Amino acid sequence: MPGRLPVFPGSPEADAAGAIEPAPSGGFELAAASVFLDFDGTITTGDVGVHLLERLGADGWRAIDAEYDAGEIGSRVCLLEEWDLLPHDQERLRAVAAEVPLDPDLDGLVGDLLAAGAEVTVVSDGFGFYATERCAHLGVPVMTNAVDWELGRLEFPHEDRCCACSSCGTCKQAPIKDARRRGRATVMVGDGTSDRRAALLADVVFAKGALARWCAANAVPFHPFETLGEVRAALGR
Ligand SMILES: [Mg+2]
Repeated sequence: MPGRLPVFPGSPEADAAGAIEPAPSGGFELAAASVFLDFDGTITTGDVGVHLLERLGADGWRAIDAEYDAGEIGSRVCLLEEWDLLPHDQERLRAVAAEVPLDPDLDGLVGDLLAAGAEVTVVSDGFGFYATERCAHLGVPVMTNAVDWELGRLEFPHEDRCCACSSCGTCKQAPIKDARRRGRATVMVGDGTSDRRAALLADVVFAKGALARWCAANAVPFHPFETLGEVRAALGR
């Protein structure tokens, strides 16, 4: 049967911190849900952008990342500055990006969700090209940034300048708002700084890593996870 989404049962870590409200009763059907999957560190086992910068980047990217994590700059500025620290060699960048494995339960999770009638969208605020390439086989929309390889330029086809912050490369709130307007329940699965604003909007949040710590510190209810297999199990499969 299609899984029913468990809504905010909280997490041991968060409950211990007193940050999470008790779970409301009930849930909602996956057939009425839109599920948004972050890419770096969520669909992949590590952050591909960080891997590229560690392997190929010039000095200085960690300081840029720290400014971004601290909220001093938005992701668009962060990505543009970091893109300038990488060689704009498509073949080399694609090869190094492919070194980061996909979560082994990605295909199973997405297959289950689609079979249950859920909408699935990948939302990725990274360098874009690798998320598009490595999610192509899933047959779901991938909202991310893009590289014009001829010009060696990073572009932002999914930025939302109408948003109050207007500082992200790919706005992860915009598709969640769209789904809510269509009456869908929304689920965000993510791990990092670029997922924070989406986590504030989504009806259900699965979080790991830095996003889980941020949710716990800011009283944002979430389900903790480490692998997509755990998300798959939590959604009833
Ligand atoms: Mg991520």
